[in-house]
Amino acid sequence: MYDVIVVGGGHAGCEAAMAAARMGMRTLLITMHLDQIAYMSCNPSIGGPAKGHLVREIDALGGEMARAIDRTAIQIRLLNESKGPAVRALRAQADKRLYSWLMKMELERTPNLDLKQERIEDLVVRGGRVIGVKTGLGNIYGARAVVVTTGTFLHGRLITGETIRPGGRAGEAPATGLSATFRRLGFEVGRLKTGTPPRLDARTIDFSQTMVQPGSTVPLYFSFAYPEAGIEPPENLIARLGPPNPVYPLPPRRPKKPCGGALSSPATWSTPMRPSMKSYAATSTGLLCTTAPFRP
Ligand SMILES: Cc1cc2nc3c(=O)[nH]c(=O)nc-3n(C[C@H](O)[C@H](O)[C@H](O)COP(=O)(O)OP(=O)(O)OC[C@H]3O[C@@H](n4cnc5c(N)ncnc54)[C@H](O)[C@@H]3O)c2cc1C
Repeated sequence: MYDVIVVGGGHAGCEAAMAAARMGMRTLLITMHLDQIAYMSCNPSIGGPAKGHLVREIDALGGEMARAIDRTAIQIRLLNESKGPAVRALRAQADKRLYSWLMKMELERTPNLDLKQERIEDLVVRGGRVIGVKTGLGNIYGARAVVVTTGTFLHGRLITGETIRPGGRAGEAPATGLSATFRRLGFEVGRLKTGTPPRLDARTIDFSQTMVQPGSTVPLYFSFAYPEAGIEPPENLIARLGPPNPVYPLPPRRPKKPCGGALSSPATWSTPMRPSMKSYAATSTGLLCTTAPFRP
């Protein structure tokens, strides 16, 4: 029997589970795939107007997203610098695999928090109150409260060109059982649309026609924990104390790079590399960022 069960290990579910556990609640986070914790469905970025402000508000309340993106960002900028302060917003490009690992690590080392990989198919309701969840494997877990953070998965549909098929996001199944539960309980269930840009083969892009969008030249952070509060930023802490967890030896927050093109490996690079590019190719794992503008 748990105090709180959180269904779904996306951004919202991670925060909900950690908040409950840190308040001393015996908490269970159940999600379809533990290796897709806090996974970014599309453009691997955190921030911009709206989401950027939300992340900083979560940080002020003790949440994890801001700290995670500060440690896994490959580039960060302040948007709308030429406009008024009300519309300025931080936006960071994330190493999305690293971000997911980091969030999983934080969940795993949070006291009072259990993680399970299962699909929730139904809610257990008694006397008009939710008292637990039922999984696709037939397991039932009881709880005093259930938080549902299933993102785009409830009765999700993927539309690719003329093809329509059920799906939560690319490569993942939708949550159909839970959608039926909500209907049965009298909720209206609808869909919101989102879109994702096509993935392009870097070898087919003429980078001479593109412009480099540099990252900030001064260090920027989402989290209020540093440096305003005089606390050492993550890269200094890790350099001094070593990695926080030997199982996931995460590097310190990556140095910010002016990214003109982020390629999967030097082999996918279509034009001859300049010397400045080679140094990045040699030092970065799986990510190539250029230091020079793309001009013919
Ligand atoms: C193609 C696409 C592109 C997007 N692009 C952007 C973008 O560029 N910027 C942006 O801000 N947002 C984008 N979004 C929206 C994105 O979904 C949200 O920003 C964010 O991921 C929402 O977080 P979440 O925690 O609510 O849900 P999600 O990240 O969707 O996480 C939901 C979690 O719940 C789990 N789950 C679902 N059903 C069950 C169940 N029955 N049992 C157990 N586990 C379950 C899933 O496995 C998943 O881990 C995009 C979404 C999609 C699909």
